[in-house]
Amino acid sequence: MRLDRVTLENFRNYAAQEVLFDPTCNVICGENAQGKTNLLEAMVCLSTGKSNRTRTDRELIRFEQEGFHLEGSIHSRDRDFVSRIDVGFGKKKRITVNDVPVRAASDLSAVLNTVFFCPEDLQLIKEGAAARRRFMDASLCQLRPRYAAALAEYQRLHEHKTRILRDCVDRPDLIATLPDFNLRMAETGAILIHYRSRFVKMLSTCAAAAHSECSGGRETLTLQYKTVSTVTDPLGDHKLLVIQLLEHQRSHHYAEVSSRQCLSGPHKDDIEVLLDGLNARSYASQGQTRTAALSLKLGVREIHREIVGEYPILLLDDVLSELDPKRQEYVLNRIGSGQVFITCCEEDRLHSLLKGSIYHVRNGTIAQRSSL
Ligand code: ATP
Ligand code: MG
Repeated sequence: MRLDRVTLENFRNYAAQEVLFDPTCNVICGENAQGKTNLLEAMVCLSTGKSNRTRTDRELIRFEQEGFHLEGSIHSRDRDFVSRIDVGFGKKKRITVNDVPVRAASDLSAVLNTVFFCPEDLQLIKEGAAARRRFMDASLCQLRPRYAAALAEYQRLHEHKTRILRDCVDRPDLIATLPDFNLRMAETGAILIHYRSRFVKMLSTCAAAAHSECSGGRETLTLQYKTVSTVTDPLGDHKLLVIQLLEHQRSHHYAEVSSRQCLSGPHKDDIEVLLDGLNARSYASQGQTRTAALSLKLGVREIHREIVGEYPILLLDDVLSELDPKRQEYVLNRIGSGQVFITCCEEDRLHSLLKGSIYHVRNGTIAQRSSL
C-alpha cells in the first residue's frame, strides 16, 4: 500500500499544494506551526473520511475560505486509486474513489489504511487501562467488522445496565430485569474477550520484536492481556467463557447493587505492559516509554499486514525527539518494508537517513529538498 501523491486545497494552513511521495521513507521537516501535523492529518482523512484531531470538518477548512478539497493517488491491492474528499459550507460532504461516490468511510479504508503515532500516544503506556482499551478497540474495529458490532452491542447493554443499577433504589422492580442483561452481556463480552486475547497474543510477538530491535536488543517488552478474574483461559472456548463471566457477575451482584455500578465484565480489561519484567507505567523512562508506545503501533502495523495482506502507511508525528541516536537510526532506516512518513523539527537528526526523501514545510508550503 502506497500513497504516491496528495493534493491539498484550502485544508488547514495549506492554500494549494501538491506533493509527490517516495515509496519508502518520507521525512517532513519544519519549524513549529508550519503544517507538518496538518499534512499527516490530511492523510488520515483520506483513509478514514475524517480527522483524528477534530470532530468537525469545519475546523479543517482554511481560515476565511468556503471549503476544502483533498485528493490522494494510492496504489494498493495491485491497482491505482484516486480518492477525493470535498467539504464546503452548507454543502454535503462528497467522497469519491476513482470518481465513484462512496457512502461509507469504510470504502476509503478499503483503499488506504494508516497507522498514526503522535506524542499523545505515550498515554498508551503512562495512563490507566482506558487508554489501552481504546487502542485495542480502535485497532480491532478497523480489522474485524464482527468485533465492531459486538463492541457496539456490549456498550449499549453496559449503559442500559448502569442506568438500571442507578434507578433501582427508587424502583426495586427493575432488579428483576438484571439476569437478562447479565446473560446478554456475558454472551457479547465473551466475543470481545475472544478477539482481544488473540489480538494481544499477536501484538505481544510483533511489538516485542520491534522493541528489541529499536533498543538494540537491550530491553524486553512483554504484553499480558488482563480480563475478568474468573476467566481461566481467554483464548478458550466461547461457552466456557460465558459460564465464567456469569460466575463473576453472580459473585459481584450485591456489590453492583450497593455501589450502583456495573463492576463485572470486560469493560475493565487492560493490557499489562512490562519492560524487562517491570510495569512500564510505573518504571519506564521517557525514551523507553516512547519506544514501547511506538512498538505497540509497529505491532499493529504487522497485524494489519498479516490480516489485510499489505502494510498500512505509517505516520509518525514527532517521534524522534527524546530518542537517543541509535533509536532514531532504527526509526529512520530499519522499520523495514512499507511506506513511512516522519515529521521532525531538527534537520540535523537526519544525517543517518539512508533512503527516501526529505521535504521542507514552511507556512503551508512544501518543498522537496532531496532524495537519497
Ligand atoms: P509542531 O512542530 O509545533 O507540531 P506543525 O508543523 O505540526 O508544528 P501544525 O499542527 O501542522 O504544525 O499547524 C500549523 C498551523 O496551522 C498552526 O499554526 C495553526 O494555527 C494552523 N491552522 C490550523 N487550522 C487552520 C485552519 N483551519 N486554517 C488556517 N490555518 C490553520
Ligand atoms: Mg505537529
